Amino acid sequence: MAGLESTFADELGALTVPWQGAPAPDPTLLVLNEQLAASLRLDVQALRREDGVGVLSGSTAPAGAKPVAMAYAGHQFGGYAPLLGDGRALLLGELTNSDGQRVDLHLKGSGRTPFSRGGDGFAVVGPMLREYLVSEAMYALGIPTTRALSVVTTGQHVYRHGAEPGAVLARVAASHLRVGTFEYAVRQGEVLQPLADYAIARHYPELTELPADGDGSRYLAFFEAVVEAQASLVAKWMLTGFVHGVMNTDNTTVSGETIDYGPCAFLDAFDPAAVFSSIDHGGRYAFGNQPAVLKWNLARFAETLLTLIGSTPDDAIAAVSAVLDTFDERYDAHYAAGMAAKLGLAGKAIDRALVDDLLTLLEESSMDWTGSFRALADELRGNSTPLDGLVPRERIGPWLERWRGALTKHGRGAAETADAMDCVNPLYIPRNHQLDAALRAATDGELAPFEKLLEVVTHPFDRRDEWSDYTTPAPPSFSKTFQTFCGT
Ligand code: AMP
Ligand code: MG
Ligand code: MG
Repeated sequence: MAGLESTFADELGALTVPWQGAPAPDPTLLVLNEQLAASLRLDVQALRREDGVGVLSGSTAPAGAKPVAMAYAGHQFGGYAPLLGDGRALLLGELTNSDGQRVDLHLKGSGRTPFSRGGDGFAVVGPMLREYLVSEAMYALGIPTTRALSVVTTGQHVYRHGAEPGAVLARVAASHLRVGTFEYAVRQGEVLQPLADYAIARHYPELTELPADGDGSRYLAFFEAVVEAQASLVAKWMLTGFVHGVMNTDNTTVSGETIDYGPCAFLDAFDPAAVFSSIDHGGRYAFGNQPAVLKWNLARFAETLLTLIGSTPDDAIAAVSAVLDTFDERYDAHYAAGMAAKLGLAGKAIDRALVDDLLTLLEESSMDWTGSFRALADELRGNSTPLDGLVPRERIGPWLERWRGALTKHGRGAAETADAMDCVNPLYIPRNHQLDAALRAATDGELAPFEKLLEVVTHPFDRRDEWSDYTTPAPPSFSKTFQTFCGT
């Protein structure tokens, strides 16, 4: 594979184990992201040929590659696991994309590694297609995320809910450096500083000029940059109704990209307490808890950097605490700016009470999160039918008056405002019931519903009459029982 490099494995070998993927008896390409492949300057035709599919399945290493399993630790549901690592994944290496950015090419489901613990090292087709579709939908929504290059079935059955087709996802990411990578490195001693320098050079190169020690330390600035990137990211999740589902520190990147689409889901009805993951019994990763959990994860990240910051431990703690304390303010600013845009008030300081009262209405009336913002734009166009289908007019009337008052002050015309709202409020998101049905069909060998849904959710803002079914929320009976699963 032309252009594949291995700077991480070469520079930070202590955090990797050289490894090969498991043989796949009959690798078959199910889906290939040709646009992404082209942006990585990969030869699309070659990827479709037998040797290309072999590489995407993990069964053959690309020529000249040094595939590795990466080591990491992590806090899972609040408890510390000192050794996790790629138990069913491999870093094939890094490519430089057409923007000149170095990205990881990574496989998931490629067989057991030294980090597999009790797991079989494999993945099945439904969850790999789920990651493919949701990560590409997130990308189309403008949310920083890892991307999906391909899904290949291996020709081998894997036992989950019975025998299911085994599959491998090829994923592309700014990097796979996680808070958990730092939690692992801090216990290995001397690899911590090289890891931090590598992460800075790769993700925040403007900080490389800063001194290693003293008040203006590059490591403190690095922490601040990650706090900012993650505050911005989680605000985007909250504005889109995205529930990550497993915000362990090993699933929190230092690049600020969303990673790990195991048990994620999108809200239908707005509900801060929404939990979909079958294992999240306490609701730790409920929709409304996500900003607080992210801040908690960043506190764990800060702990790993203490020895690199400040002349005394007390100085270091004071310095990172001061930065961590800015998280709420940063998050609030990103959320308020995003919500202002969703409500047609872009560029204005939004009245917090206007937002809070809308959220209360949405929650009390179980209104569809995605549909409500589109219905508000239609309301401005003089079409009240969509909003009337979501909430009784007497309930929302007073709020609508206040909103119209704010819009009047903003000074844009109704039609112009409605059009601007439609540019930031998606029409199509991966609805749980539709994704579930598409994945069931794909598991049974029928790929067409998946392909159709993928096309729709990768054009989230383009209204098309023939896609009207894709705006329908799940029936409440579905949402009450719908569950997602980790690590399947
Ligand atoms: P996740 O919940 O996807 O973030 O995964 C947590 C950890 O479990 C990581 O170390 C994974 O590599 C590992 N893991 C998940 N599924 C498997 C599997 N089927 N075999 C081996 N390891 C796994
Ligand atoms: Mg993970
Ligand atoms: Mg996972």
